[in-house]
Amino acid sequence: MTSMAYITNRLVRHSVEHDPDALARHARDPGAAIVLLAGDLPVLAAGRPGSGFLPASVLDRLPEHREQVFLGYLGERPVIATLAAAEMAKPFQDDPAFTVENLRAVAMSGLVPPEELGTLAMAKSLLDWHARHRFCANCGAPTRHAQAGFRRDCPQCEAQHFPRTDPVVIMLVTRGDKCLLGRQPRFAPRTYSCLAGFLEPGETIEDAVRREVLEEAGVRVGAVRYVASQPWPFPSSIMIGCAGEAESEDIAFDTAELEDARWFTKDDVRRMLDGTHETFAAPMPIAIAHHLLRHWVQGS
Ligand SMILES: [Zn+2]
Repeated sequence: MTSMAYITNRLVRHSVEHDPDALARHARDPGAAIVLLAGDLPVLAAGRPGSGFLPASVLDRLPEHREQVFLGYLGERPVIATLAAAEMAKPFQDDPAFTVENLRAVAMSGLVPPEELGTLAMAKSLLDWHARHRFCANCGAPTRHAQAGFRRDCPQCEAQHFPRTDPVVIMLVTRGDKCLLGRQPRFAPRTYSCLAGFLEPGETIEDAVRREVLEEAGVRVGAVRYVASQPWPFPSSIMIGCAGEAESEDIAFDTAELEDARWFTKDDVRRMLDGTHETFAAPMPIAIAHHLLRHWVQGS
């Protein structure tokens, strides 16, 4: 079975407070590993699986790079995330030594070993943050890269800006032997999944679960517990997987969010997970929703 994607990262993360000069020191290190994105597309060494860690010589193929972040160490090897222009995807696509693919497809197709996916997710979220935060949110002046890529500073008003992570609650709501799943129009055909939504400022995780389920499906939720989490680098979310107990059963779903919502039995979900259900399908195994469902039917 495919494991949940983006959760494993073998990197010893860079502790920027202890070593703010690490990027400057390792930027020209010929032994460094480069995690390269052209726009938002990872450039991989080709193979099944290939690798998202490229030799430092790959930098010689770039006319320029836009941003770099020192991610940490893989054993003794420094790892540097590098952002190239989106147009640079084409020359790498044309070279059989490389594969260029979006990060969802990289996970689904097993283009790199699963333990590399967490590092690729980290690189993508950080580089995306740099690309989108070139100007100060406080005064509008251009910001500068700082702290090996883990901060941007405004020279005008001296504000410091830090990389963001956007929390999303995703919950399997159950009532006895049944669970509540919904379907958005953008889902793959027949697929139903856990409800989900962004945590709002000043809100607890438990209340976000209750609010989202009430808003999207009209179902009241009581007890909520945390199950597991998953980085979701599109662009920089953390999926907080929860289980919630429904206190009501009637569904009144929000048609702006969902195309359908309904209750499924454990037997339905078992067959959806193993692909034998005649009508419905479960979410893909790379996603946490799949694992929340599996965890529930296995009764643990
Ligand atoms: Zn500013």
